[in-house]
Amino acid sequence: MAIQRGPSPSPPGQAPNPARAPIPQARNPLRSGRFWITLGILLLINIFVTNVLLAPAQPTTITIPYNVFKQQVAADNVVSVTTTGDAITGVTKTAIKESASSSVTATHFITQRPSFADDQLEPLLEQHSVTINAKPENPPPPLWQTLLLSFGPTLLLVFGFIYLIRRAQSAGGTGGLLGSFGQSRARLYDPERPATTFADVAGIDEVKQELQELVDFLREPQKYEKLGGSVPKGVLLIGPPGTGKTLLARAVAGEAKVPFFSQSASEFVEAIVGVGASRVRDLFMKARTAAPAIIFIDELDAIGRSRSSGFRIGGNDEQEQTLNQILTEMDGFEPGKGVIVLAATNRADVLDAALLRPGRFDRRVTLQPPDRRGREAILKIHAAKVPLAPDVSLDEIAGRTPGLVGADLKNLVNEAALGAARKGETSVNEEDFYEAIDRVLLGTERHLMLSQADRERIAYHESGHALLGLLVPGADPVRKVTIIPHGGSLGVTISSPIDDRFNYGEDYLRARIVGALGGRASEQLVYGSVSTGAANDLQQVTMIAREMVVRWGMSAKIGPLAFNDDPSANGFGNRPYSEATARDIDTEVKRIADESLAEAVRLLTEHRAQLDALAKALLKDDSLGEDQILAVTGIKATQVAASQASTR
Ligand code: ADP
Ligand code: ZN
Repeated sequence: MAIQRGPSPSPPGQAPNPARAPIPQARNPLRSGRFWITLGILLLINIFVTNVLLAPAQPTTITIPYNVFKQQVAADNVVSVTTTGDAITGVTKTAIKESASSSVTATHFITQRPSFADDQLEPLLEQHSVTINAKPENPPPPLWQTLLLSFGPTLLLVFGFIYLIRRAQSAGGTGGLLGSFGQSRARLYDPERPATTFADVAGIDEVKQELQELVDFLREPQKYEKLGGSVPKGVLLIGPPGTGKTLLARAVAGEAKVPFFSQSASEFVEAIVGVGASRVRDLFMKARTAAPAIIFIDELDAIGRSRSSGFRIGGNDEQEQTLNQILTEMDGFEPGKGVIVLAATNRADVLDAALLRPGRFDRRVTLQPPDRRGREAILKIHAAKVPLAPDVSLDEIAGRTPGLVGADLKNLVNEAALGAARKGETSVNEEDFYEAIDRVLLGTERHLMLSQADRERIAYHESGHALLGLLVPGADPVRKVTIIPHGGSLGVTISSPIDDRFNYGEDYLRARIVGALGGRASEQLVYGSVSTGAANDLQQVTMIAREMVVRWGMSAKIGPLAFNDDPSANGFGNRPYSEATARDIDTEVKRIADESLAEAVRLLTEHRAQLDALAKALLKDDSLGEDQILAVTGIKATQVAASQASTR
């Protein structure tokens, strides 16, 4: 792939402004390499001359014991001495031997005066008329050192200033001394090399068609200009995470062979306060220089949240400035300049209205999680990179993975390939894929030491879910139940629809709630008490029940009204309904949950024998597949299918 990550393509210190770049800058001696080389050579010569040529020739000097030295003084053989602290060097009239056994003789000697020596040395030297010199113990540092210490810091400061000023000048209008902090770290995708194309995107053909127009425009902007056609400046890609928004934006750039500038909105406002706006300015400036080009802003909702949505805590100004800068930049485009801004979000409903006005992000493209055919097509793209065994049916796998998006499917293929590699296989077979589905849906297995009592409770909990999945009309078929801990949960029951569902009936939602309460109901029935194991189930129950009441009009008491809360208003006013309605909503949600729990308990009590059988089988085998569950409970697959068909 031709993706070039890493630092921005133009290094700091290079003028980003195209109008300034071609003007040759005056040569600065400090910048030229020859200057520094010459300086270095001069320094070396200097060191050589002072230390080698000018150094005084050293006479041979011997080290002698202190008492030998005193003997020499007494013998009138010493002419002069020089002391540095307790070290004494001296010159003798006639050469003396270093030691009795040594043959080395010299007139220069050195000796060390012991610290306990009595102070009779001076009178002795006087007596024998020896010249006495003394040097300070720490000789003054040489001149160059003194100079360096006194002028060095000042020079350093001056050079530092010169350097900073030069940098600031070359950073142009991007904010003076701090200019380089504001440079966006947009990554440039080299248009020369092949990049992502529409062939890498599967399952969203309608969307590809919509974006084809952008590609055509970017390839031949003049053609569109001549016809006076208006091409959108901004396109908003809306869809849940992993549906391929980034991929699609990249593919547009790849198809059009134009540079791709990508930046996550949250990165605009990270770290240093006050640089968000300047990063935006810089990003747009670079894109305009490279036009035709694409700017991609990921997670636009991180800064583009509606400003009217009440109370926001922290970072408010920063986000607002950054957002304003984006709006200003988009307004500032001349039409037909060839820069198109693509932005991704998974929540178009919370975006500021100013962003959606004409001339800004006025076109929207919605990406849905893929259907079965789409999943198969996506699997085909990613499976093309791995060797598949002949028994693999991608259609079958697509059928087993409703709800998974492109990123999940890519991960699934990868997990299957890893699994095959672990087993030392040469190709990826069906079994590898099924194991990968389990891993992707369940998370990886955890090895926990659980007591037998805990395992039994978990077995009953999961059996409750599984049994209700079979008994409640309209529930999705149960595919698998396990009491092996996975990810964050101690046991899991997986059920998935036969086909993709895009519309949910009230029966189905009720069945989901009853099924989710099955674990708790089972524990209550068998042990007379409940445990913390149902926390996730209860969260799901609350969410579905609440949506039924406030969003889908499924409560007779509330009626056919929608009271969608704005999630960005953290409870500070903004509730578009009265206190009384709020209370009604709460009681209705509670009523649905209570009724469902009663139904769950009733069904499990009625089918207690099957519940016990299922729990026992789970304790024995840890995991049960669809067929095993049916066999253990004695429920016929046709019964289940019939109950589902009845609610369709
Ligand atoms: P988003 O930006 O919507 O969160 P991404 O574009 O980052 O999702 O998708 C992550 C990865 O998932 C992509 O790099 C791609 O490999 C894969 N993917 C997602 N959607 C598709 C698709 N429709 N076709 C092929 N691959 C896809
Ligand atoms: Zn549960």
